[in-house]
Amino acid sequence: MGKIIAITNQKGGVGKTTTSVNLAASLAAANRRVLLVDLDPQGNAAMGCGIDKQEVKYSSYDLLMEEVPASETVIKLPEIGFSVIPGNSDLTAAEVELMHADHKERRLADALIPIKADYDFILIDCPPSLNMLTLNAMVAANSLLIPMQCEYYALEGLSALMSTLKNIQDSVNPELHLEGILRTMYDDRNRLTKDVSEQLIRYFGDKVFRTCIPRNIRLAESPSHGLPVLSYDKSSRGSVAYIALAGEMIRKEKKSSK
Ligand code: ADP
Ligand code: MG
Repeated sequence: MGKIIAITNQKGGVGKTTTSVNLAASLAAANRRVLLVDLDPQGNAAMGCGIDKQEVKYSSYDLLMEEVPASETVIKLPEIGFSVIPGNSDLTAAEVELMHADHKERRLADALIPIKADYDFILIDCPPSLNMLTLNAMVAANSLLIPMQCEYYALEGLSALMSTLKNIQDSVNPELHLEGILRTMYDDRNRLTKDVSEQLIRYFGDKVFRTCIPRNIRLAESPSHGLPVLSYDKSSRGSVAYIALAGEMIRKEKKSSK
């Protein structure tokens, strides 16, 4: 059964989409069956995989509205090794349209049930807010992966996210757990980065991934080519880091299933 991981942080620009696309590619390179669900109205994950978000027949909006079965919304991308359910600006309407709907926070969870067994990993790229879309992701997910930049205000944002996690565990999704915290755009020459990183490890221990994602220009360039960095520049530091992250996750998974 596929493990569903929501890639989330209410702060924008921390590397959620970059992590979604490149972790998906790296897990696929390790022969895992991967689906990436783009739940951000900006549709950056879809674009980063070479999909024209305005031209798609269906998007994740249709999943939330129960209009189309999930299998019909999936776009297979053999060139990059995984499948995508795209997101686009239609999603902005979802929040309003779901306001008075039944089971509004369970729409995504229910929609993914029929296709869950077709994948080893389903990654959900969340929007930069704690709205109804993110809530749907957190209800559908088994775990949360939180990318963060080691900056001064990052820890504060993280504590808000941890209390959201607790609320969801206490109400709609008791099984939800923290997959891990990922340090992104990491620069170990920077004193503040190091301090925040140490604090992070003090609080969260082995919930902080050992792999850090460095700041790497190839990671920033590859979306404009519609490719994960692995297909764009395989030997870049960005590629190597996301492959290491996939390896770390797979090893953890094997350990916990023993
Ligand atoms: P989010 O989805 O959290 O808003 P993005 O993944 O879109 O964040 O990243 C924000 C910006 O930073 C993008 O322009 C992206 O290309 C760039 N970026 C993300 N991670 C890295 C990195 N490790 N090195 C360099 N640029 C990065
Ligand atoms: Mg994003």
